[in-house]
Amino acid sequence: MPVFFSHPSSLEHDTGPGHPERVARIQAIDAELQRHDWFGYERRDAPRPTPDQLLAVHPQDYIDAVRETSARAGAFDLDTPTSEGSWEAALRAAGGACALAETLLGGGERVGFSALRPPGHHADRDRAMGFCLLATVSIAARHALDSLGAERVLVVDWDVHHGNGTNAIFHESPEVLFTSLHQYPFYPGTGPLSDVGRGAGEGYSINLPVPAGAGEDLFCGLVEHVVLPAARAYDPDLVLVSAGFDAHRDDPVGGCALESSSFAELTRQLLTLDKPVGCVLEGGYDLDALATSTALTMEALVVGGEPAAHPRGGLVDAAAERVGRYWDLGSTS
Ligand SMILES: [Zn+2]
Repeated sequence: MPVFFSHPSSLEHDTGPGHPERVARIQAIDAELQRHDWFGYERRDAPRPTPDQLLAVHPQDYIDAVRETSARAGAFDLDTPTSEGSWEAALRAAGGACALAETLLGGGERVGFSALRPPGHHADRDRAMGFCLLATVSIAARHALDSLGAERVLVVDWDVHHGNGTNAIFHESPEVLFTSLHQYPFYPGTGPLSDVGRGAGEGYSINLPVPAGAGEDLFCGLVEHVVLPAARAYDPDLVLVSAGFDAHRDDPVGGCALESSSFAELTRQLLTLDKPVGCVLEGGYDLDALATSTALTMEALVVGGEPAAHPRGGLVDAAAERVGRYWDLGSTS
């Protein structure tokens, strides 16, 4: 049975009136999944992470700062306020992702979803930003590598924003192949095609910027012709998806044009790798789009199916040329 992690603490992270990253996001997802009886997923409460799981990514003084800032309901920046419940919510979000990795690498389950907030992919080792407090997916990837026997983890970040935190945390490491599709130029300003990682991690960051207005053809074309061939060559033990849904055409924050069904297609594409796939919620700020996209992603994780063939084109060719310097992407036209 596939697994679904959540926790009531996600409802206690109060970002204040008018903030797009709000409690109602989780409520919208829950209501939609209830209509589908969670597609048969086994629902589990996200645990807290262990101190070691956090310390593998964040220094102690930063962890203390997140806890203390939350205790006094302070803000890290205008985008990133906290409330008294934020610390527990952030802990459970990180713990849910770690538990998801454990489930997927423990044999048996091949797919799962961790749907908690706040998101995490903008958080760097020692910096909260962009609605993110703890680097949830990085913590889970590190846990998989340190304690679960994984040697290589593929992160696919399809949130409309560049996952600068994950990118930075593994920038010099070949243990994680970080791939990100994101609107560019856009917040947070990082993630050009030329950022391929550095040192021992050179080639292990695949940044795939797309222009505003990009839709399914471009997103899925990049995945089919760049991400999947590189991922096959990398041969990961685990795939973690930074599953933001703010590249949806209805999203009020992002400027891309995916449909809800596009996320199911992206999911089917990743399943062709025949590796365990765990999705971790990041952004997504139109409640209906978020809920339907999450539901269709979860359904695709269990139903699978053949993805369609997607076109190449200039942007895909340019990306393939750059990434092809490091990875054998197979035949290029
Ligand atoms: Zn985002």
